[in-house]
Parts: sequence; structure tokens; C-alpha cells
Amino acid sequence: MTRFTGQVAVVTGAAQGIGAATALRLASEGAAVAVVDLSVERAAATVEAITAKGGTARGYGCDVADINAVEAVFAQVAADLGGIHILVNNAGITRDNLFFKMPKDDWDAVITVNLTSAYNCSQIAQRYMCKQRYGKIVSLSSRSALGNRGQANYAAAKAGIQGLTATLAIELGPFNINVNAVAPGYIATGMTAATAERVGATPEQHQELAAERTPLRRVGRPEDVASVVAFLVSEDSSYVSGQTLYVNGGAR
Ligand code: NAD
Repeated sequence: MTRFTGQVAVVTGAAQGIGAATALRLASEGAAVAVVDLSVERAAATVEAITAKGGTARGYGCDVADINAVEAVFAQVAADLGGIHILVNNAGITRDNLFFKMPKDDWDAVITVNLTSAYNCSQIAQRYMCKQRYGKIVSLSSRSALGNRGQANYAAAKAGIQGLTATLAIELGPFNINVNAVAPGYIATGMTAATAERVGATPEQHQELAAERTPLRRVGRPEDVASVVAFLVSEDSSYVSGQTLYVNGGAR
């Protein structure tokens, strides 16, 4: 499959979990992938996994919460790999707590890393995409955008992603840029393993409970999200923009 041959994809938070699976998927279909994470060392395993399969990838250390760092790294990506055609705003964190106990620092951190980073990366990427009159942006929202106990900060950030997506689709559409979001439910990754630990469960126990609540009776895999992101950044969805697609096993 070569849907992305000749294209450069930037995937943020691609050292592990959904970002790593997305980087691997896009590379398997021909994209040259910039594997962006907090440090180049963290990105190395994903880069190795891609190159071991004959794909093209390069790792970049970047805190996506820092727009100056994003600007510098994206310029480097464009110089190294030959442009920026696809951006996947995937980097994210959680700092869960009931609202009455939620420290301001945890509010700020989650809004900054999950939402402001999407502003930062989209703001810089659209400069390249507008010039070339082509681009695809997909950002990670979450089922939690609809409300989730203990996640006021995260839910607000992920709902913000949906508003940002709908608006960027309107403003960037005339430049042939598609902007969409995916909203996963429970996907088994390091993030959900950390949540399990916080509530005193093993990852397996936590996943079993989530599976019972899910109509498809299983939790999601990073690859379940990666394949939907690949669809949304491909020409197979060229008339889809401004949408948030829930990837959550049928849960309401
Ligand atoms: P994860 O914790 O496994 O991976 C997140 C990655 O982002 C890590 O490699 C981390 O180093 C990187 N990262 C964090 N802060 C960063 C920063 N400031 N700059 C650069 N990189 C940074 O998470 P995951 O489960 O793979 O989630 C990926 C995305 O999907 C997140 O946006 C998350 O909110 C979203 N999501 C996850 C789930 C789920 O159930 N796992 C559900 C809905 C949405």
C-alpha cells in the first residue's frame, strides 16, 4: 500500500501508544515520518521499528507545548524530509482528579499539552501546507470530551480540540487542507496503564472492566486508532473535513 508515497508526516507524541502505531501505519503506506516526542532518545524505538520494516523515519526531540521549539523542529523536518504534508496532533497527558481537588498546575499542564500544543503545531504546519496548497491535519480528541468524572481538565482540552478542528476546517479549507479529529474511547496504552495504577488496579483488571462497558466487548488497540487516522489523512476521505470521528467500540 502506498497511499502516502512522497509525503512527509509529522506525528507528535510518537514514542509509544497511539502515536507510535500511527507513525508505523503511515510509514507502512509510504510516508516519510517525523517521529516527534519529548526527546530524540524517546523517539528512537519507533524510528527503529519503522526503518527495520524498510520505511523512512527520523526522530526529533520537541516539547510541543513550546511554540518556539515547534517552529524550529518543523523547519528541520521540512529541510530533512522535504516538506510537511500531514500533521497528527497526538501528544497528550492526563492529570486526573476530582474538580474540587484539582490543582491549578494540573489544569494548566493538561490544557497546554493537549490543546495549546495543537494550536502550536497546527499554526506552524499551516504555513507549509498553505504554501503548497495541500495538507491534512488530524488531532486527538477523546470520548472524555463528552464529560468524564475526574477529568475536568482533560475533557475541556479534548472538547477544545473539537472546536479548533471545526474552525480550522473552515479557515484552511480554501487552501486544500483537511482538518479532522478522532475521539478514541478506552485504548490500552501506557496512559491507561497509569490510570489503572492510580485507582489501584492492574492494567488487565482495568481493561476487563472497560471491555464490559463497551458494546464491542473489548478495549481498543493503538492500531484501531492508527487505521482511522490513516483514513482521515488519505485521499480516501478527501471530502471529509471539520469532523470528529469517535473510535470507541460503540459506547455512547
Ligand atoms: P501515551 O501516554 O501512551 O503516549 C503519549 C506520548 O506523548 C508519550 O510518548 C509522551 O512522551 C508524549 N508527550 C507527552 N507530552 C509531550 C510534549 N509536551 N511534547 C511532546 N511529546 C509529549 O498516550 P496514548 O494513550 O498513546 O495517547 C495518545 C493521544 O491519544 C493523547 O492525546 C491522548 O489524550 C489521546 N487519547 C488516548 C486514549 C486512551 O485510552 N489511551 C483515549 C482517548 C484519547
